[in-house]
Amino acid sequence: MDWIEQFLFPQDKFLGVEWHVWKVVGWLGNLTFFSRFLVQWYATEKQRRVVVPTAFWWLSLVGAGLLFSYALFYKRDSVFIFAYAFTWIPYVRNLVIHHRTAAAAGCPQCGEPCASAANYCSACGVALHPPNPRSGA
Ligand SMILES: [Zn+2]
Repeated sequence: MDWIEQFLFPQDKFLGVEWHVWKVVGWLGNLTFFSRFLVQWYATEKQRRVVVPTAFWWLSLVGAGLLFSYALFYKRDSVFIFAYAFTWIPYVRNLVIHHRTAAAAGCPQCGEPCASAANYCSACGVALHPPNPRSGA
C-alpha cells in the first residue's frame, strides 16, 4: 500500500498541502461553497423541477464568509478579497425574501401551498413548524 501513502502524503504532507489554521479555514470554505451545488441538485432531482432550497443560500453565505476571511486575513490579495467582499448581499437578500414568501405561501422547504391544518407538506413531506401559518389559529 505504498502508492496510497504516496498519493495521500506526498512530501510527508497530507495531500501535499502545508496545513495550518488558515488552510483549514480556506478548505472548509471551498467544501462548504461546493456542497451547495450538491444540495441544490438533490433538491431539484427530488422535486423534478428547478428549486433552490434555503440550505443553498446558507451554504453560500457560510462558504463565502470562510473564503472571504481566508482572502482578507491570510492571502491579503485584493483580487481575492474583492471576489468575496459583496457576494453576501444577494445571499442574505434571498434568505430574507425566502423567509417572507415562505411565511406567506406555506411550506418553508419547497414553497408549495399547504392545506390549512397540515402538519407536513404534501409536496415534499417536511414538517411544518409551526403548523401552516395560514391555519387561522
Ligand atoms: Zn414542501
